[in-house]
Amino acid sequence: MEIASPELISKYESVIGLEVHVQLSTRTKIFCGCPTSFGAAPNSNVCPVCCGLPGALPVLSRQAVELAIRGALALNCEIRPVSVFARKNYFYPDSPKGYQISQFDLPFAEWGYVDVVVNGEAKRIKVTRVHMEDDAGKSLHEGFRDSAKYTYVDLNRSGTPLIEIVSEPDMRSSDEAFAYLTELKQSIQFVEASTCDMEKGHLRCDANVSVRPWGQQELGTKVEIKNLNSFRFLREAIDYEIARQVGVIESGGKIHQETRLFNPDLGITVGMRSKEQAHDYRYFPEPDLAPLKIGDKWLTSIKSTMPELPAIRRARFATEFGLKEYDAQVLTANRPLADYFEAVAKVAGDPKIAANWVMGDLAALLKTSNKDIENSPVSAQHLGELVALIVKGELTGKLAKEVLPKMFESGDPAAVIVEREGLKTISDTGELERMIDEIIAANPKQVTEYRSGKVTLMGFFVGQVMKNSRGQANPAVVNDLVKAKLG
Ligand code: ADP
Ligand code: MG
Ligand code: ZN
Repeated sequence: MEIASPELISKYESVIGLEVHVQLSTRTKIFCGCPTSFGAAPNSNVCPVCCGLPGALPVLSRQAVELAIRGALALNCEIRPVSVFARKNYFYPDSPKGYQISQFDLPFAEWGYVDVVVNGEAKRIKVTRVHMEDDAGKSLHEGFRDSAKYTYVDLNRSGTPLIEIVSEPDMRSSDEAFAYLTELKQSIQFVEASTCDMEKGHLRCDANVSVRPWGQQELGTKVEIKNLNSFRFLREAIDYEIARQVGVIESGGKIHQETRLFNPDLGITVGMRSKEQAHDYRYFPEPDLAPLKIGDKWLTSIKSTMPELPAIRRARFATEFGLKEYDAQVLTANRPLADYFEAVAKVAGDPKIAANWVMGDLAALLKTSNKDIENSPVSAQHLGELVALIVKGELTGKLAKEVLPKMFESGDPAAVIVEREGLKTISDTGELERMIDEIIAANPKQVTEYRSGKVTLMGFFVGQVMKNSRGQANPAVVNDLVKAKLG
């Protein structure tokens, strides 16, 4: 079997659907009161319920349901008024109940969508369903694979609340899958349903991939790729899998439905189990939990606390503030940043200049000091005031660049630093005229040249004034005055 060349690949259309697991940001587990805190000593956050001891009964967490609903609403889903938990039966050492509590034919949310823009083209990816489930524990192997001597089981994660988000097979390239997952993550973070921290496993993605000759209606046989725990791996795994499938078909073979694992070191996918070996989960309604009823009143109250979603906010930043699409995208990357920028813009009185300062000088200072916007030593109010000084012509942009690091260091407002260091812009014409007279007197040669037509020397005179005033002269005023004096 050969990996197909780009030329062969272009004869096929690829089809991708994603299944994404998101860990909800609850303090406790979904069916018991054990904490969900990350990094606790193994098997310390456990009780009879999440250990799966016989006779222990689950009690559904209200907070988990609320966060699940927020997550589903962030993906524009409809919420089913009555949904049902189901047992998904399988044996695995880190799942002591012998089954997972999930939802099957009646999930709590359906009919959603995520809008993306890929290569300048807008596209809507449909979300089939979102359901709630509990997470399994973790197996830790000492040694590797065949050489493993011991396997340890840590049940701290067992019973952690998850939502699984299943998309329609609507994506046609790894770029679209990348864009979908990016937008999904951002939306869920905005509504604070999850941190979506991939490094901690709070966002996990499986990709289903198939190919078909262009024009064919029927979908090709899909392969599911597990273990995609970064955006880069998602892209690499999909691209590899497309090339592999086309290679198989072009050399006369057939794609078999199977689950494959992505090996990030080799950049390839490897067969894990075929459809024949697939589980029969024997789903049935969970007898220990009543159907979940989400009434209008509850739903309305959750909806009333939903923030503006990132796509909408991005569009508003572009229309209301006149920001470029790219800038609007950067400034809505996360909610704290978007909130910060909006607060700066309001105080500054000029959103575009405010955007430049947030994305430019402030971002650079945060980066070098390894800080997030949430704990910026310069508050949005203070940065807004600094920008307002520039907008009002009371501080030159150049000097503001010196003021900001001092604000960052001291936490003092701009006005205090400007006052202390005497940096205020000089707009007083009397004072500026005196300076200009001195410069004219000291540079007779340039004056003569200017008057005989070398008008480019204007820049020389203005530059001298700026220099003598240590950058504090109001450049616009200086310009006018120099012009008038040299006549
Ligand atoms: P299964 O029952 O095997 O889990 P589903 O129908 O639930 O299959 O689909 C799981 C995921 O696979 C969904 O995200 C769906 O969009 C995607 N999918 C289904 N068929 C295909 C296909 N032919 N090619 C690519 N993705 C597909
Ligand atoms: Mg599935
Ligand atoms: Zn527990």
